[in-house]
Amino acid sequence: MMYRALYENGKELLVQAGIEDAAWDARLLLEHVCHTNRNDLLVHGDREVADTETDAYLSLIRRRAEHIPLQHLTGVCEFMGLEFAVSENVLTPRQDTEVLVEEVLRHLHDGFRILDMCTGSGCILLSLLHYSNDCIGVGADLSKAALAVASANAVSLCPDKDVTFVHSDLFSNVEGKFEIIVSNPPYIQSSVIDGLMEEVRDHEPHMALDGGTDGLDFYKRIITDSRQYLCGGGMLFFEIGYDQREAVCALMEEAGFAAVTALKDFAGNDRVVYGTMM
Ligand code: GLN
Repeated sequence: MMYRALYENGKELLVQAGIEDAAWDARLLLEHVCHTNRNDLLVHGDREVADTETDAYLSLIRRRAEHIPLQHLTGVCEFMGLEFAVSENVLTPRQDTEVLVEEVLRHLHDGFRILDMCTGSGCILLSLLHYSNDCIGVGADLSKAALAVASANAVSLCPDKDVTFVHSDLFSNVEGKFEIIVSNPPYIQSSVIDGLMEEVRDHEPHMALDGGTDGLDFYKRIITDSRQYLCGGGMLFFEIGYDQREAVCALMEEAGFAAVTALKDFAGNDRVVYGTMM
């Protein structure tokens, strides 16, 4: 089949399956199978695609039609301009989280020690290390499977950086002091998880999503415990859910953090809260 016709075919199957970004997903899967890029659809749409590639593409399209996330099919996800390996064992990096990373970068100095609590794929920590000099990174997670993904990402994206990963229930196995602690913890209210889109509800690890009854379990524990692990003047940064700004700001202020600040993401939702330990 010709390249463009195959793409149209895939797109149509995804539209029929009710996949939101059908055109985008159909194109990216085709490029993944054929090792092509965006240009090929524009200028080489009439090239013939080998039967093996056609079969591989249509099988991926069928799986995407079953709402398996695109990133699980390609095994990669772009974040902060870097290509992260992902799997069903880690939260797929979100574009919203780039706002958090950008803000930390504004406060980061050469040589800082950074702790990424609930590191998942390592996307936050490894982006910070990639875009800074001589920083020392520690990523903590309760999931051994997630840590394996993060370690593989460190090898491919940050081979020359000082980074270690620890298997830890929050701070239980963390040692040392940090200038910066950053976290995108699980923050969805337990009761809301069943109503999430299929891609998230059925394919993302629940332990990366579930923030307890009020969604604030991890903020409470991290805010309390982080004080012991931050240097004087150290900063704590969080990603938050769109309706958690007031609650998380209040928790940080009650715990004695100063200059507590909130930021919105590109969609205009509250997304980041940070403050300084005095
Ligand atoms: N730190 C990872 C991310 O932001 C994983 C977060 C999580 O598992 N809740 O994508």
